[in-house]
Amino acid sequence: MDAAAVKELAKDLGADLVGIASADVLNANPPDPKVPQTPDRISRHCRSVIVIANRIPVAAFRAKSSVAVQYIDMLVLRRMDRIAAKLSAHLEDAGHPSFVTAAQETDWDYKRASYGRLSTRHLGVEAGLGTLGLDVNILTPEYGPRVYLTGILTELELEPDGRMTEQVCIGESCSRCLHSCPTDAVEHFNLNKRACAQAAQEFGFMTSLALFEAMIDGDAARKKELMASRDLFGFWQGMLRVVGSFGDCPRCLAVCPVGNDYHAHLAKPQKLIPEKTDEKVAKGKRFKAAREAGEPATGLSEYNIRWVGEDGYQGIVARQLREFRETQKARAQASEKDRST
Ligand code: SF4
Ligand code: SF4
Repeated sequence: MDAAAVKELAKDLGADLVGIASADVLNANPPDPKVPQTPDRISRHCRSVIVIANRIPVAAFRAKSSVAVQYIDMLVLRRMDRIAAKLSAHLEDAGHPSFVTAAQETDWDYKRASYGRLSTRHLGVEAGLGTLGLDVNILTPEYGPRVYLTGILTELELEPDGRMTEQVCIGESCSRCLHSCPTDAVEHFNLNKRACAQAAQEFGFMTSLALFEAMIDGDAARKKELMASRDLFGFWQGMLRVVGSFGDCPRCLAVCPVGNDYHAHLAKPQKLIPEKTDEKVAKGKRFKAAREAGEPATGLSEYNIRWVGEDGYQGIVARQLREFRETQKARAQASEKDRST
């Protein structure tokens, strides 16, 4: 099996996007060298990582509340895991040992906050599927950040895809993710993970831990109060459907203007950002001025720039929008012609 055959199979199984990263390159470029998320920490036999991505249906971002996204996220992850497992089984049947990594996991021995054995967003960049945005989500040209990714570790040596060097994110002059963030967690191509978790993991591990601590330490009256609390219900619902444990806040995904799904279905409903404040606008402007002045920023350091795109923003979204409008226009003209004949 070669790279083209593997990609075709992944698409046939239902992957929306697929790319291949070299294990050697991933091992040589860990996102954080102090706590390396690399294939060789999992298996020294891995030669390639096949990265698949599945889009989150855009309708969920048009809904009145974030509940739709929270539930659909879980369905997308389950579907994607099944596709990856089937692809992995096909590879094994063809004689190439392969297995799937958990897409959403935290390894307690690495860092204790949403830090898995591999970083799927960095896998995606190395597999040529996109680049990291201002909010450090991976932005794919096709669906912007509205995707989930997973990786299949295989012992089959496959031709890797080239990493994109053009920055997909419009950058500081856009800053829509920053403007929309309810906890002001977006930094300069960096993220305050703790602040993000307040909204994105409302009933995640830290909330559950605080609930248990309060249960243990509280007196009888407090315990009784907690038994009837929203936090306990949130914990139960998280156990039942994973809802509330992750991906609770879809705001930076919903407003990002990258991807034809945005142009077609989100541009109008997401045009105005209710969370936008003068302070956030000023923050975006400070980032822009700092970039222009070449001031240091962690996310844009010599080491980290490979995942943002070292060639900088060259207008990919504007090109995409132009093509999208031309296609729409051609379609409208064709259907007008059909009606008149
Ligand atoms: S997920 Fe929500 S809280 Fe986290 S960075 Fe995005 S907008 Fe902010
Ligand atoms: S909203 Fe704008 S600044 Fe934020 S990630 Fe998307 S393109 Fe980049």
